[in-house]
Amino acid sequence: MIVTDRCRGCGACLLTCPEHAIRPHGQPLQVLDALCTGCGECIEVCPADAIEECP
Ligand code: SF4
Ligand code: SF4
Repeated sequence: MIVTDRCRGCGACLLTCPEHAIRPHGQPLQVLDALCTGCGECIEVCPADAIEECP
């Protein structure tokens, strides 16, 4: 997963991620590949459509 510059910093993805794979510091937010299972919940919850699957 990658967080694009459409992120508004609402924090919804941080609270939603069951693996705590999204680091709360820095802009853009970093998704830790080692923890991410690719469940897609962060994409669903993001109001800014800012999270995308890595190509
Ligand atoms: S849910 Fe979307 S807009 Fe909110 S912090 Fe996460 S990436 Fe940014
Ligand atoms: S795809 Fe799932 S595990 Fe990966 S960052 Fe998003 S919510 Fe977390």
